[in-house]
Amino acid sequence: MFETAETYFSRIDRPQARKRLRDRPLVLTREVSNKTLRARINHSRWVVNCPHCNSAEFLFGDKRFFCTECKNEAMDGKLYKIVMPKNKPQIETLLEPRPIFNRNWQYPETIEDLAEENKLHIEEVI
Ligand SMILES: [Zn+2]
Repeated sequence: MFETAETYFSRIDRPQARKRLRDRPLVLTREVSNKTLRARINHSRWVVNCPHCNSAEFLFGDKRFFCTECKNEAMDGKLYKIVMPKNKPQIETLLEPRPIFNRNWQYPETIEDLAEENKLHIEEVI
């Protein structure tokens, strides 16, 4: 299973986690810029790096990025659009047999790269 903000925060019974889901509609009232960011997989979690403060956030299903650390202040609070890889299902399928700490992917890694890693380093990555 690959985590997104919705899958992760909905299972965590902590006020801060619930707040992140509850506050999302407020985030989505913000203006969306035409700037984009790419999602990546880190330890089986879909995340997005903040280009301004080096924080990272879980990917939300709406594919909009808002940094809870710097509040996108460098963008006047506007949201970024998230670009997802077209071959997301294939990427997840290739990472699935790996232990969670080895389920990592980022652009521009290809599905051929992941398949080759699985084949060449079967002892280390799977
Ligand atoms: Zn930030």
